[in-house]
Amino acid sequence: VKEHGRNNYRFYAPEMTHMAIDRLDMEGNLRRALERGELQVYYQPLVDLGSGGIVGAEALVRWQHPRIGMIQPGEFIPLAEDTGLIIPLGQLVLRQVCADILDWQAAGLPPVKISINLSARQFRQDDLSATIRNVLDETGVEGGRLAFELTESMVMHDVENTLVTLRELKKLGATISLDDFGTGYSSLSYLKRFPIDTLKIDRSFVRDIHEDKDDAAIAHAVIAMAHKLGIKVIAEGVETRDQLRLLSEFSCDEIQGYLFSRPVPVGEFSLMLSKQRSL
Ligand code: C2E
Ligand code: CA
Ligand code: CA
Ligand code: CA
Repeated sequence: VKEHGRNNYRFYAPEMTHMAIDRLDMEGNLRRALERGELQVYYQPLVDLGSGGIVGAEALVRWQHPRIGMIQPGEFIPLAEDTGLIIPLGQLVLRQVCADILDWQAAGLPPVKISINLSARQFRQDDLSATIRNVLDETGVEGGRLAFELTESMVMHDVENTLVTLRELKKLGATISLDDFGTGYSSLSYLKRFPIDTLKIDRSFVRDIHEDKDDAAIAHAVIAMAHKLGIKVIAEGVETRDQLRLLSEFSCDEIQGYLFSRPVPVGEFSLMLSKQRSL
């Protein structure tokens, strides 16, 4: 969202050259969108480099606005975070993911692990794990089918509370991924101090990996170190075969990126899973 004048936010959507909605409108719009079911969960496959198969997906929310068209999360997640709407939004995403997991199970599709992004405000909620447990109990989805993605900036401020929350999430059977690794004030001590299962190497380190020897060295070292600590590594933003080849040489566990697939609607992801079964 670009700041446009005082308190005005301006959207740029591919369907229309431009269209302005002020911030208040935007908040009201988002509130209504939540009620009217305009938010959809897309899935971007996580591909195992050993088997070449889909082993999971990251859930990424989209807003299908009736007039503007598709709005990307970068345009409304910050506002949702500021206004507290991220709490009902997060609930909606979790419920949708659990409903989709049940559908895939009923269709006999191979089990996959779904990664859900948590924002700072959600993470600080006192009843976070209780609300997640409620949804799991209601739907009957096993916690082990879920991973929660957190960023370094969320875990660094309050070590004690972070530890308590992470232990609660792990008690549900879920795993913990450290998102955007390398972009924050990365401290390797987090990896030791917190029960992190998976590390996601940020796209910015993957981008030039095939041209920049330093980036390649960093990626290689991060993967080796994570493995020594018993942590799995996912590379984000993999777009080319050259990147894939190097990551594979470095023994990266899984990749996510446009090379394999963009985030897709649930129907399309189900189709990918069913094709995989018939291989
Ligand atoms: P993120 O968690 O780092 O998600 C990865 C972003 O990288 C996604 O953007 C994805 O579409 C994009 N991406 C994946 N592969 C490639 C690639 O090969 N090349 C390029 N250039 N980009 C790639 P998206 O979907 O626009 O999401 C942006 C951010 O919005 C996410 O960043 C996440 O922080 C936030 N977000 C999305 N959904 C949710 C949600 O349900 N809850 C919360 N709290 N945050 C969300
Ligand atoms: Ca993420
Ligand atoms: Ca990320
Ligand atoms: Ca990122």
